[in-house]
Amino acid sequence: MPVDERLVSHVPTAYGRAVSGGAPHPESDVPARRAAAADDKPRTGLIEVVCGSMFSGKTEELIRRVKRALFARQTVQAFKPRIDDRYAKTRIVSHGSIAIDAIAVSNSESLEGRVAPDTDVVAIDEAQFFDRGIVEVVDRLADAGKRVILAGLDQDYLGRPFPPMPDLMAIAEEVTKVRAVCTMCGASASRSQRLIQAGATVLVGGSESYEARCRACFRARDVAAGAL
Ligand SMILES: [Zn+2]
Repeated sequence: MPVDERLVSHVPTAYGRAVSGGAPHPESDVPARRAAAADDKPRTGLIEVVCGSMFSGKTEELIRRVKRALFARQTVQAFKPRIDDRYAKTRIVSHGSIAIDAIAVSNSESLEGRVAPDTDVVAIDEAQFFDRGIVEVVDRLADAGKRVILAGLDQDYLGRPFPPMPDLMAIAEEVTKVRAVCTMCGASASRSQRLIQAGATVLVGGSESYEARCRACFRARDVAAGAL
């Protein structure tokens, strides 16, 4: 089988320059390579993470991206953890009451098993409530050519990184931080202030249990000590 000399001579070095002297820039081959790649293997997937505090519009942003994909006639499957049944078991509903259909699953393994082979886009809400296995699951889905969009809280009620979100953010191609408005001073808010005393990290609730606060107005220790 003949070897395409152009591809051989234009192998880039780690610094992005062609190996052979005087050769055209390697990017001149990009369209041809892209066409060849399209024939050989399925298109590349990617992982997008939308994160922020409570009331930051994470779920609205997830739903917006899902609706754009649907307009583009792509096949979408949406998931949410079964722990979150505030409004509906089979819908993803934002605080602003915008909703899309979703499948409630109990863990990451169950989610992976329900993704259909022909699905283009996998949307996952409340990703912080999934087990650590979700990191490997979404990595596999992206490797299989799917676009995976996850929304979740980046910090818990004490302002600590909320696993598995840090790992998801690390492996994502794109991370979007959305911010709420601080209920105390009106600044951009990045934290979720818990308003009632409870020891567990997971306390599912809405405006009766939490409000958005900026870094200056956030009082994690007061809540932990019961002094709010
Ligand atoms: Zn504030």
